[in-house]
Order: sequence, then C-alpha cells, then structure tokens
Amino acid sequence: MSMYPFVGHHMVRQQLSAAIGADRLPQVLLVTGPRGVGKQRLGLWLAQVLLCTGPEPRPCGACKGCARVLGLTHPDLHWFVPVPRPKPGDADKQVDEVAELLEAVMAERRQTPLWSAPDGMLAHGVSSARLLQRQASLTPVEGGWRVFIIGHAERLVAQESSPEAANALLKLLEEPPRRSLFVLTTAEPGLVLPTIRSRATPVRLGRLQAREVLEFLAVAKPELATDRVVAQANGSIGAVLGSAAELRAKADAAADTFLDAVSEGPVRAMERVLRQAPWQARGEFTTLLDAVAERLAMRAQRALGPGGRVSSVNVAGILSGVDRVLQARERAQGNVNPQLLLAVLADELSALEAG
Ligand SMILES: [Zn+2]
Repeated sequence: MSMYPFVGHHMVRQQLSAAIGADRLPQVLLVTGPRGVGKQRLGLWLAQVLLCTGPEPRPCGACKGCARVLGLTHPDLHWFVPVPRPKPGDADKQVDEVAELLEAVMAERRQTPLWSAPDGMLAHGVSSARLLQRQASLTPVEGGWRVFIIGHAERLVAQESSPEAANALLKLLEEPPRRSLFVLTTAEPGLVLPTIRSRATPVRLGRLQAREVLEFLAVAKPELATDRVVAQANGSIGAVLGSAAELRAKADAAADTFLDAVSEGPVRAMERVLRQAPWQARGEFTTLLDAVAERLAMRAQRALGPGGRVSSVNVAGILSGVDRVLQARERAQGNVNPQLLLAVLADELSALEAG
C-alpha cells in the first residue's frame, strides 16, 4: 500500500516549496508540533518533492519517484524510528540488527500506512546513530537528493551513552553532505538535546482543522470518520489512531477470545492464534498481553476472595500463568514474531490449566 494523502499545513508547505524552488532549503530541519498532526508525514512529503521526477509543481504525485516515496521503497529515503536496543555484541552486527528492525517497521507501514506513538522503551541508540552515518556516507542511489527522516528526535542518543557516536552525529548535522536533507521531528522540542536543536532550523506545525481530520479519516479509517471522533481529535489524527481507548477496547476483546480459546485446549488455542491478524504495531501486542495478564490476576483474586471456589493449587497455577504472560511481554520487546510468542504462550497456559 501507499501512504494516505497528506492533509493540511498548506502555509508551511508553500514556504518549504518556495525555499526548495530558490535552492535555499536548510538541510537540517526540526519539525515540532502536537502529537499526531503529521510531522513525519511532512518529512515524507518533502522527500516526495525532492525525489519527484515529474513536471512542476512538485510533488506531481504520478511519477515513479513519487510512487516509491509513498510506497516507502525509494532507495534514497531513510526513515528512522525508535527501535529496541540490539543484542549486546559486535558493533557492526548491532548496526545490522537495527537496519533489520527498521526494515521490519517499514514493512509493517507498507502494509498498513498508519502508526501510533512508539513504546516508551524504544530509542535511537548508538547503533541507530552509526547506521545513519553509514547511510549518509554513501552516494545517492539515484544521483539526486537523499532524505533522512528521524521521528521522535527527543530519543536520539545522548552524549554520555557514547561520546563517539554522538559527536559523529553532531558533525553530520553540522556539515550535512551535499544534497542530503535531515528531517528531525518531535512533539517535545524541550527534550531534544540542545546540541542537536541548535544545529536545526525549526519548522512548526499547528493542529489540523476539523475538516482536515475528517478528510483523512474518511480515506484511512472510514469507521472513525464521525463528527464525534473528529471533535475529540482536537486537530490531531494521531489522537484518534493511537487513542488509549481504541487500543484498549481492541486488546480487551482479543484477550477474552484468546483466553476462551485456551480454556478449550491447546488445539483450539493454536487455531485461534493462527487466525490472528498481524498486529499493526508492537504496542498493540503488548497491550493485548497486559489485558491477558490482568484477566488472569483477576481470576486469582476472585478465587482467593470471599466465596472463592478455587483451591490454592489452582491459584498458584493462575499466578504462574501471569508470570508466563509477563515473560512473553518482556520477549515482545525484542525482535520476535508476536504470533509465534502468542502460540508458545497459548501452549504454556493450556498446559497449566490442564495441570
Ligand atoms: Zn512526482
């Protein structure tokens, strides 16, 4: 799939287009603004303008360059998002692992071009900074511009964690290679390292208008395109997509189905897991595991409370079930297939129930 249309921010787009037309576009931008208004999407739009090979005005929206940017397959577009910390070991291997993690996120976004705020544990660590340097030092594949988008720039590697990687990153932003653009985005500019902030030109995005949010939802999430949802969104598409309420409702339903299947035995549980649609984001999967753990803990509490009918043996079983879920949650932070994790968990839980 291709990215959904970019809505709003017309003034900013005009100014940036004019700067590109006059060959005066600053090479390091820090795009700030409320969460979910399209800051990284503005980065993609800039990439489209710079990599478009069609006629003016750009982006034309019809050429191969435009299609490859919007399909996240352009070789000169590099999109960095916070990722889990790679396994300890050789620095080069860690950089390769980060490249794979990022590619997995991009593969998800090609399938479902919507994203919500990343888990709080994820970051742009030392290996991400090294990967960025590695990619920036190569020549452009197509011979034109190269665009680097760095979402959640407030999570960029801190000086103390690796002075060498941080300094190299600062040097890169100080003197970017010719015809390379770095678009850093953040909803929390105050948390961006001052040394990075001082090297970037700020671009401020405001909230979207209600009709722009509606326009987007009508295409991307028709079931949410209602006046009530738009009013709650308060000018932020992300507020709708990643809303805790939306995630939680989905996770609760999925946890109930999962536990019902587990109680019907390992075969049914496995069938259920195999039918599970892929998760759009790792956050959704961990929310599901949280909901499962919560339900098991509630069962244990009910069993122990007044009128509880379950023996202490059963309670111990339920609690070790909770433990298994928490272990699965921990593993889910790494680069593990969630479906596989859930299959193992289903197997463990039904064995505990049977025992
Ligand atoms: Zn084009």
